[in-house]
Amino acid sequence: MNYYRRWKMHFLNHRTKIFVIFGVILLIILSIWGMMSLESYYRNITLAQLPLSLLMAGMNAVIFAYLYMGLMRGGFAKVDKKSVNAKEVNIRFSDVMGIDEAKEECWEVVRLIKDHTRIKKIGGKILRGILMIGPPGCGKTYLAKAIATEAGLPFLSMAASEFVEIFVGVGASRVRTLFKKARALAYGFGGCVIFIDELDAMGKNRTFNQFGNSETNSTQNQILVEMDGLTSAGDNIIIIGATNAPEDSLDPALLRPGRFDRKVYITKPGLEGREQIFRYYFNKVKHDATVDIGRLARKAIGKTPAEIENIVKESALIATRNGRDIVTLKDVSEAMERIELGVKRKINMRDREKEMTAYHETGHLMVVYLLHPTDDVFKASIIPRKSTLGVVHHNPTEEIYSHDREMLTANIKSALAGYVAEKIKYNTTTSGVSSDFSTAMAIAHNMVWKLGMGPSGLVGDYTMIPESEISEEVKTRLNQDTDRVLKDCMNAVEELLTKERDLFERFAHELLTKQELDYDEIEAIFSEYGKANPRRFSIKPETTTESAPNTVGDK
Ligand code: ADP
Repeated sequence: MNYYRRWKMHFLNHRTKIFVIFGVILLIILSIWGMMSLESYYRNITLAQLPLSLLMAGMNAVIFAYLYMGLMRGGFAKVDKKSVNAKEVNIRFSDVMGIDEAKEECWEVVRLIKDHTRIKKIGGKILRGILMIGPPGCGKTYLAKAIATEAGLPFLSMAASEFVEIFVGVGASRVRTLFKKARALAYGFGGCVIFIDELDAMGKNRTFNQFGNSETNSTQNQILVEMDGLTSAGDNIIIIGATNAPEDSLDPALLRPGRFDRKVYITKPGLEGREQIFRYYFNKVKHDATVDIGRLARKAIGKTPAEIENIVKESALIATRNGRDIVTLKDVSEAMERIELGVKRKINMRDREKEMTAYHETGHLMVVYLLHPTDDVFKASIIPRKSTLGVVHHNPTEEIYSHDREMLTANIKSALAGYVAEKIKYNTTTSGVSSDFSTAMAIAHNMVWKLGMGPSGLVGDYTMIPESEISEEVKTRLNQDTDRVLKDCMNAVEELLTKERDLFERFAHELLTKQELDYDEIEAIFSEYGKANPRRFSIKPETTTESAPNTVGDK
C-alpha cells in the first residue's frame, strides 16, 4: 500500500517525463525494428542520412533557443537607432543661433570632453551627464549634436519613451544594449555621446507602490547603474538628457552628483536671437529686398528656433507654389499666418454674418490700436480659419515679463471690444463673443481674486483659501469687484467706439471689401485720421527684452 502510494506520487510528479521517455523508447524500438526489416542497401542509405538529420535537429534547437531568449530579454526591437558618426551629424556651434548662453555652457562641455585625460590626471571631476532643460523646438537635440560634432565623437540618440515598454525588463535591457553599443563606439572612436530625449518619460519621481509603473523604475534604475558603472570604468562616454518638464519633476536620483549634475538651460531666443535665426535660415533661401529680417524678428515674438525655421521653409514652399524661386515678404507673411492662425476655410457665410464679423473685428482692432499700451495690431481678417470667423492678430512689441494694471485692463478692453462693437452697431450681439468673454472674465477674476487689483481694496490671493472658508460678504464683494472691473472696461470701450464712430465705420467697410488688412494698411488709415498708437515701448531693434506669446482676439 505504502509502496503503491509512493509509486503513484512519483508517477504523478514526473508523469510528463515518464511519458516522454516511454515515447522515445517506443520510437527507437520502432525504428530499429523498421531498420531490421529493410534490405541492407536501404539500411545503409538511412544510416548515411543520420548525421545530417542530427545536424538539422541541432540547428533547429539552437534557432529556437535564440528566438526564445531574445523574446525573454526584450524582443528583437533592439536598439538599432541611429548610431551615427560625428561626421554624419555634422552640426557645428556656428550653426546654432540665438541661444548664446546655452552655447557658452556647451562650449565648456566640449572643452571638458577634450581635456578628459588631463582632468583625470589632475584628479578632477569627470563629466558624465548633462541635462538640457527647455521648451520643445529650442534646440536641445541640435545642441547635443553640436557637442558631439565639436568634440569629434559619435552620437547615439534615443527617446526615453522608447525604453518604456509594457513588458517588465524590456526597457532595462534596451538600456543595456544602448550602453553596450556606446562602449563599443567609445572604444573605436575614443568616446561617445549618448543623447536621451524626453528624459522625463522615465525620469519622473519613481513610484514604489504596487500601482507604480515598475517598468519605468527598472529602466531608470538600469540607467543609473550604467552611469555609475561608467565612472569607474573611465570610458569617455557623455550622456546628455533632454527634458521640457520642470526640473523638480525629475527623480532626484537622476540629478545627483555623478549623474545628470550639469544643467544647461535653454530658453526661447530674444529679439536679437530671433533676428540671427531668421538671418541664418534666410541665407539658405533666395529672397528679395522686401524681406525685412528685423521686422520679422519683432513680429515673431515668443517663437522658438524650430518655429522660425518652419516659417522660412513654409515661405519658400509658398513661393514655389506661386511659381517663383525667390521669396518675398508676402510669402513670409502668408507662411506666418498659416502657421499661427491656421489655414483659411471656405465656408459660405450670409452677408449679414459677414458684416457683423467685420464690425466685431473692427472693435478689437480699434481698441488694441488706440488703447493698448504694449500691443501692436499686425493683421485683421474676416476670412474664416480654424474655428474662428475672423481674427485680429496682435502682439506685444517687446517681450513682457510682468503685467501691470493698465496692461491687464487693456487686455480686457481688447477682448470685450467685439461685443461692444456689435452692440453699438446692431443693438444686439452674437454667439461670437463667447471666447472673448471667457478671456475677459478670466483676467478680471484673476485681478480681483489673486492680485489685489479690485476697486474695493480687498488685497490678497483669495484663491488660496477654500471657498467655504471665505465669508459670504467677502465673496460678494469680490464678485462685485470683478463685475465692476468688467463694466468699467466695457464703458471705456463703448465711449471710445462711439466717439470714433467715423473711423469705426471706415474700418468695417475696409474690412468688408478687402477681407484682410495688414499692418501697413491699418497704420495708414489711423494716421489718415490723425491717430497714433499710445504704445509705451517704441519699436527699436536694439531692445531685447521679451514676453509671453500673442493674444489673438478672435470671434
Ligand atoms: P528640441 O530638441 O529642443 O525639441 P530640436 O533640437 O529638435 O529641438 O530643434 C528642432 C530644429 O530646430 C533643429 O533641427 C534645427 O533645425 C532648429 N533649431 C533649433 N534650435 C536652433 C538654433 N538655436 N539655431 C538654429 N536652428 C535651430
